[in-house]
Amino acid sequence: MKITDITLDRLRLELDPPFRAAWDPEPRRHFDATIVRVQTDEGVTGIGSGDRMDGFETYKPLFVGEDPLDITRHVRAIETANFHGAHYWPLEAALWDVIGKVHGRPVAELFGNAAKKLPAYASSGELKSPEERVATALEVRDAGFRAMKIRIDRNRIDEGVAAVRAVREELGEGFEIMVDLNQSWRMAGDTAHASDLAGTRKTVARLAELDVFWVEEPLPYADLDGFKRLGAENPGVRIAAGEMHRSTAELLRFLEEDALDVYQMDVVLAVGMHRARTLAELALLKHRQFTPHSWTNGIGLLANLHVSAGVGGGPFFEFPYDPPGWTPEHRDFMLAEPVRVNGDGDLEVPDGPGLGVELDEDAVDRWRIK
Ligand SMILES: [Mg+2]
Repeated sequence: MKITDITLDRLRLELDPPFRAAWDPEPRRHFDATIVRVQTDEGVTGIGSGDRMDGFETYKPLFVGEDPLDITRHVRAIETANFHGAHYWPLEAALWDVIGKVHGRPVAELFGNAAKKLPAYASSGELKSPEERVATALEVRDAGFRAMKIRIDRNRIDEGVAAVRAVREELGEGFEIMVDLNQSWRMAGDTAHASDLAGTRKTVARLAELDVFWVEEPLPYADLDGFKRLGAENPGVRIAAGEMHRSTAELLRFLEEDALDVYQMDVVLAVGMHRARTLAELALLKHRQFTPHSWTNGIGLLANLHVSAGVGGGPFFEFPYDPPGWTPEHRDFMLAEPVRVNGDGDLEVPDGPGLGVELDEDAVDRWRIK
């Protein structure tokens, strides 16, 4: 079997009204997605998405003509392209889609088949007042979710803690709350400093009093000792990070130092599916948790779901959802059907071959950047 071509569709969905995620320097007026298609000489097409794939044309000849099933070789080749190029992990997702289709099985089965579904948490994006955040929390609980992640802006700590407190008081102890401080990376153009360790220690102590399930990215990754210190000072709070770690070496160091309770490497942004599985299994062997970041689009979400369900990640899986601003219809605009949780708040692994991606080709045509 041979790869005959790899094509990219660059899509841009117009957002009206604009959506302002907590990590965006400006409200976003459009939502971009790049669709990767791996074509083969046997008529099997694999689909992936997630990262932008900027500059991939330079590296395409490394893959065309190769056997798509030689996945370890392709992972290594993507890692070498990473040196001068970008992170081409959506290509790996498309290759796993091919492999699943060739075997006639869901990709999660090839990754260990530990679970058929995972409980999802509603991962919010916007900064909202405590009243608005409670209203959204009630809405997502009614939709079946048993947990929600709330963002806190590093410059608006009091308001963010107030929103967490309001949700805790209104929804009670049975509803889990994660908090994301988003300190470990910056969107392009955001040159502000992260909060320092002293300030973050205070914030995490306040969140510990509210019995949050985890605190995510409380510090920049460079401060590994700070992560360990926060964990030691707050034994009842899980410390989570890793979504944007860009190398296996960085994550191995965090694992060796036992710096985190929850590892979150995104399989289409951070280190790919094959590497994430290895690192996730190391985390699980240490009795730590693996529950990946999945905030890209429905295809990236499914790639993360297959790996997480395959290795036995959890107990919660990120489901980007913050109505009315961010919905499955926005996130999955390129899919025939948006990915949704079932009535129990669980995300079920698609049982078809591959990743279970079905594109809406009319939407792809409509939103393709001409
Ligand atoms: Mg995060």
